[in-house]
Amino acid sequence: MDKFTHNMNSPDAFEHRFKALSTAISGVVYSFNPDWSIMYELDGRGFLSDVTEPTADWKKRNVYREDIEKVDNAIAEAIKNKCVLELEHRVLKADRTVGWTFSRAVPILNDKGEIKEWFGVASDITERKLAEQSLKKSREILEQQKRTYETIISGTPDLMYVFDLNYRFTYANQALLQMWGKTWDEAVGKGLLENGYEPWHAEMHQQEIDTIKTTGKSIRGEVAFPHATLGRRLYDYILNPVFDEGGKVIAVSGTTRDVTERDQWEQKLKQSAERLQAINEEFAAVNEELSASNEEILAVNEDLAKANANLISAQQTIEEGKLALRQAIEAANFGTWYIHPKTLQFVTDSRLKELFGYLPDDNLTLEKALAQITDEYRDLIAGKLEHAIYSLGDFDVTYPVIGLHDNKLRWLRAIGNRIAEPNGEASGFTGVIMDITDQKMEEIRKNDFMGMVSHELKTPLTSLSAYLQLLEIRAKENPDDVSQRAISKSVQQTKRMTDMINGFLDFSRLESAKIIIETTPFDVAELIEEVKEETKMLYTTHKFIFASVKSQFVSADRLKIGQVLANLIGNAVKYSKPGSLIQVSCVALPNEVKFSVWDEGIGIKADDLSKIFERFYRVENNNLISGFGIGLYVSSEIIKMHKGAIWAESEVGKGSVFSFNLPIGN
Ligand code: ADP
Repeated sequence: MDKFTHNMNSPDAFEHRFKALSTAISGVVYSFNPDWSIMYELDGRGFLSDVTEPTADWKKRNVYREDIEKVDNAIAEAIKNKCVLELEHRVLKADRTVGWTFSRAVPILNDKGEIKEWFGVASDITERKLAEQSLKKSREILEQQKRTYETIISGTPDLMYVFDLNYRFTYANQALLQMWGKTWDEAVGKGLLENGYEPWHAEMHQQEIDTIKTTGKSIRGEVAFPHATLGRRLYDYILNPVFDEGGKVIAVSGTTRDVTERDQWEQKLKQSAERLQAINEEFAAVNEELSASNEEILAVNEDLAKANANLISAQQTIEEGKLALRQAIEAANFGTWYIHPKTLQFVTDSRLKELFGYLPDDNLTLEKALAQITDEYRDLIAGKLEHAIYSLGDFDVTYPVIGLHDNKLRWLRAIGNRIAEPNGEASGFTGVIMDITDQKMEEIRKNDFMGMVSHELKTPLTSLSAYLQLLEIRAKENPDDVSQRAISKSVQQTKRMTDMINGFLDFSRLESAKIIIETTPFDVAELIEEVKEETKMLYTTHKFIFASVKSQFVSADRLKIGQVLANLIGNAVKYSKPGSLIQVSCVALPNEVKFSVWDEGIGIKADDLSKIFERFYRVENNNLISGFGIGLYVSSEIIKMHKGAIWAESEVGKGSVFSFNLPIGN
């Protein structure tokens, strides 16, 4: 500066030097007045248009419009500080296009230190500027791209990273840093071990990086390792080579994806598929079974259809049977009834009503029906009915009824059956009723006839036995043995005949309900004693043992009890071999006296035991032994009239015991 100031002292020298300098300089040379309002001259060098005359129009001519303000500011600053002005700005080139210049102007000061003139040089920096601008633009684009990638990469949950060939991380995305729990600065530039990889894991990747370096090929793998917070996870990773322009591997980039859940899903899917397969198999098996059972069902169905057809035909048969039965009942003129076991509701048909002298529309109750039965039979029948309904007793009864409206006597026979449910409970009591008046009248007539005959026979027989007894006494005085024996036999036979006729008479009386029990108190010991004497006289073929009997009084029909005993002893003799033993006992128990007759005879089968007390019942195969089948019947009726019981125990071939008891105090 000092040099300039000094040299400027001579204008010629200055002029000369300026010219020399401007020629030597490749750039534009210019000069201005102190406040830059007038440009003295400008050597444009083809870059700017030359100014040879001082001009105030220089800005418009040379400076790019938008940079004028910037230029003004720089000038103002330089004037103010009287210092060198340095400025890059746009210009209007000589060809009127826009260019760039670097302008440097120096103030020339006078002696007072005031600015006398500005002298400057401007170089064409258009090329550099354009290069700079395009570089900046490229950088900006690059930055923009980098930001875009960064945004994408940091937004992904996948882990992304780049290794250099020394296994150091040169890049780690946000997700990876987050997984490590490290910042960029802490992690980038560090190796695998430093970033917390387990040695085996670090070594694995290092080997892979080496491999990629030599092969230039990607590697893909799966690895499981512990995550900072989520625990053990499974990762799928891919490592890719990064090539330089020459195709040399310069780095290895990687992407790792957490596939734990996918893996879990895959596992689950696999399991589901397996389960599905198993279910399918089971299904197929079940299907097979089903089709097998289907066949069975079909077979069963066929059987069922057959059974059904059978049932239908059976039902038809039953219906036909029912109809036939109903017709038979109607033809037989039976009345039918049904009694409800609980309500005792009495359901009858009109024939039954007719038999009780009721009209078809009359209401006939059980009570009303019983009321029509004659007095002697009513209680007996009511009792039997009750027994039949509640105790499952047999019901086969014969009784006389006086008709309600017609007042007619009818003998009816009712046979009933209790209908039992499978559980044993009665569901009803039903049966038929028939008019047996004709038979009954016939029977009564026969019975009366038998009674009459017996009665008529008894009178001469009584006198016959009286005469015989007289003869017997006389014969004892007469030493004629023959007549003595004959008379004694006659007495025995007459006695038997009398017993027989008495039996018929009793039977006939029983049948016509005319038998009468005349009770008197008597000592059973005495009765037995009498029976013993009589037995010994009558039967000489058998051995007899009469157990000793204590004196005991009972109230009963002495004659008839004697008859019962005689009947049992007579049977014992009849149904056992001569010479066998017959025993008779009579024991007093707390409330009753029990009589028994033992024999060693043929015995009675169990089936027959319950029937031998029925009238006219005789055990088969004993036809050789004479009898009428009324003795036990009459005996049992007599004992029942005394409110006692009679029964037999026996073993075929060994013998029998017949017993009856009489209540004491009757
Ligand atoms: P019957 O006149 O036939 O003897 P009963 O009424 O006295 O009539 O007896 C009925 C039937 O009982 C007899 O026919 C006989 O078969 C049988 N019976 C009675 N007592 C005996 C007995 N002590 N031993 C074997 N059978 C007997």
